[in-house]
Amino acid sequence: MLNGLGDTAKPLAGGQTLIPILKLRMDEPSDLVDIARLPALHYMNNNDGVIRIGALATHGRIGKSDLSKAVPILGDCANGIADAQVRSMGTIGGSVSAADPSCDWPALLHVLNAEIICQGEKGSRAVSIREFIQDSYTTALIGGELVTEIRFKTPPANSGGAYIGFKKAAPAYPAASAGVQLSLAGDNVCQEVSLVLGAAGPRPVTSAEAENFLRGKTLTADLLNQAAEILLEASDPPADSRGSSDFKRAMLKSIFLKVAFRAIERAGGELIEGGPEYV
Ligand SMILES: Cc1cc2nc3c(=O)[nH]c(=O)nc-3n(C[C@H](O)[C@H](O)[C@H](O)COP(=O)(O)OP(=O)(O)OC[C@H]3O[C@@H](n4cnc5c(N)ncnc54)[C@H](O)[C@@H]3O)c2cc1C
Repeated sequence: MLNGLGDTAKPLAGGQTLIPILKLRMDEPSDLVDIARLPALHYMNNNDGVIRIGALATHGRIGKSDLSKAVPILGDCANGIADAQVRSMGTIGGSVSAADPSCDWPALLHVLNAEIICQGEKGSRAVSIREFIQDSYTTALIGGELVTEIRFKTPPANSGGAYIGFKKAAPAYPAASAGVQLSLAGDNVCQEVSLVLGAAGPRPVTSAEAENFLRGKTLTADLLNQAAEILLEASDPPADSRGSSDFKRAMLKSIFLKVAFRAIERAGGELIEGGPEYV
């Protein structure tokens, strides 16, 4: 149907981004194709070392799922998005497709090195999240394509992750966010690590330099501080109603360190509640 209607038609999933945009007259699609009830895109599973989430899984269902118990960073993200009303309607597929630089899933999925499955008339293709999010509000989707699935490797047993969105109140978008996923050998030696800052520029901010700096080393507060500085160098948080650039930089560093320590504790087997932090 989307293909038949052409480029001026848009899919409508949870409507939690698209409907406000229409109300503000910031877009004028010729047609809306309601995909929210397509039964085939609501699944979540964890089989053969791969986690697959259907594009129409809502934030609320992901937050309460067994997946979030197995991979706590997913629950940190899903349960921190807005309030229960938005979480019960908004979908992970809609969030990545909107590519809002303040949204949580695009940033979070960078730490999990996720692939986005895009399906169009000619078949489906897997696009790395790093290539999928091209700029603010711009993705690699081409006319008529739908995001159908988000998938990533199941993190190994010796790993842990954490994510925090820092915001004024539940229904506000985060002013800053940070995520860390790592795996450790004995004595807190970092085997693998993935870092991200969100709401810190037009796209989620990553740094291969900061990750390489940590790999193979025993993680200490001093080392994490240095990695935070490298990561912050790559960020460019905009001044807006959520705070000045300097305020956001300070918050990015503070929550980055918090999630890094939480990820280490979780990798060591500790059960730690996560979620957003409020001003
Ligand atoms: C008050 C409020 C507070 C919010 N706070 C937060 C927050 O703290 N953190 C956060 O991350 N988000 C927040 N959001 C946004 C929310 O998470 C949205 O649910 C999400 O951004 C979009 O998902 P959706 O399913 O509602 O998509 P929709 O609004 O239906 O669609 C968004 C865009 O993606 C396209 N689209 C949707 N699904 C697909 C698909 N499968 N394939 C291709 N294109 C698709 C649509 O055409 C549209 O352009 C908030 C929203 C509100 C209203």
